[in-house]
Amino acid sequence: MEKKNPMKNNPPKKLLCQSCGMPLDKPDDFGTDINKSRITDYCHFCFQNGNFTEPEITMQEMIDKCIGILTQQGIMPEEQAKVMMSEVIPKLKRWQTE
Ligand SMILES: [Zn+2]
Repeated sequence: MEKKNPMKNNPPKKLLCQSCGMPLDKPDDFGTDINKSRITDYCHFCFQNGNFTEPEITMQEMIDKCIGILTQQGIMPEEQAKVMMSEVIPKLKRWQTE
């Protein structure tokens, strides 16, 4: 049983926030644990001082929020953002329930 991975042009070194999918490039982008050390799993919008900033947010709300940000900032048109976020976010660690 082989699983095909459609995200083939994903360079292995590139870190993404495992909650919102934001690329983690700069040291300031990273979230922090309870000791204020940087963590590599989440960005500082999602995770600070060892806790999620929005612990109640659902996956769908996160998708909608990210679409809003990408669209408002003119990063991509809404249709494209929708396709991308619905593809990326469900694969992230935070939303893996099983
Ligand atoms: Zn994030």
